[in-house]
Amino acid sequence: MTNELQIYIDGKYYPKSEAKISVYDHGFLYGDGVFEGIRAYNGVVFKLKEHVDRLYRSAHAIMLNIPLTKEQMIQAVVETLRKNKMKDSYIRLVVSRGVGDLGLDPRKCPKPTVIIIADSISIRAGNAKETGITTMFSWVRRNPVDATTHEIKSLNYLNSVLAKIEANACGVDEAICLEPSGCIAEGVGENVFIVKDGEVLTPPTSTGALAGITAEVVAQLCQKLKIKLTVANLTPFMIFTADEAFFTGTAMEVVPIREVNKRQIGDGKPGPVTKRLLAEFQKVIEDPASGTKI
Ligand code: PMP
Repeated sequence: MTNELQIYIDGKYYPKSEAKISVYDHGFLYGDGVFEGIRAYNGVVFKLKEHVDRLYRSAHAIMLNIPLTKEQMIQAVVETLRKNKMKDSYIRLVVSRGVGDLGLDPRKCPKPTVIIIADSISIRAGNAKETGITTMFSWVRRNPVDATTHEIKSLNYLNSVLAKIEANACGVDEAICLEPSGCIAEGVGENVFIVKDGEVLTPPTSTGALAGITAEVVAQLCQKLKIKLTVANLTPFMIFTADEAFFTGTAMEVVPIREVNKRQIGDGKPGPVTKRLLAEFQKVIEDPASGTKI
């Protein structure tokens, strides 16, 4: 018996040290595949249905037929968590094109590979929520919407990885990616929001940003709290001069941004609107109705 994590690959479970895929898998060779990052809080998989829906939308866009129904996929995720006796987890769901030959033609890959990893995660990452984080604009532009757009949650993440490398090299916490005309698209794995005169603004997905599930929760919270939310193109100037700014994402949840390219945002501390949304977001993740029970 092993205490290792049990990883789901194509319907079977393998201990982490033995969970391997072929070097001929086109997910590895070409980044040809799609994925989701999902969290479970206290025995409930947060917005699992929404994540599975998005996975299938991404797959549809790259003409990848997932060999499970959505309901089977939901069950497979829940089963993986049960097997690992996990109540709080960061889940990675990957569907790659599968094993082919060394050419890039997807027709040579008869069977997609389905992987579910349910790993542990610390619920609170440092004190970023109290202090806010530092950011910078990356020199590498978000891919245009008619290229490998991040609207598709594909395995092609080099665009985000390059931005992250830049942030690391410059000693800031996270990068913000601009779209080809210079407006803000999103973070490397987060959506961006600003607050100006009590109004919340966020860029449209036509900037090549992913339609974030956390962002959607925040949009619903704005509605509930009667905070005006506008989807609009945001220039770098608009974030420099915002009263508040924050990121949303599955891994980060809601995190205040206190600095962009060394310009302080507002008074450099998490502002009242961000703090309110953060507190309300906490209530949503604690609500068992916000997801699928394990
Ligand atoms: N943008 C990108 C590029 C991402 O990878 C993610 C993480 N999935 C997000 C935004 C945030 O989306 P979500 O809130 O669904 O995690």
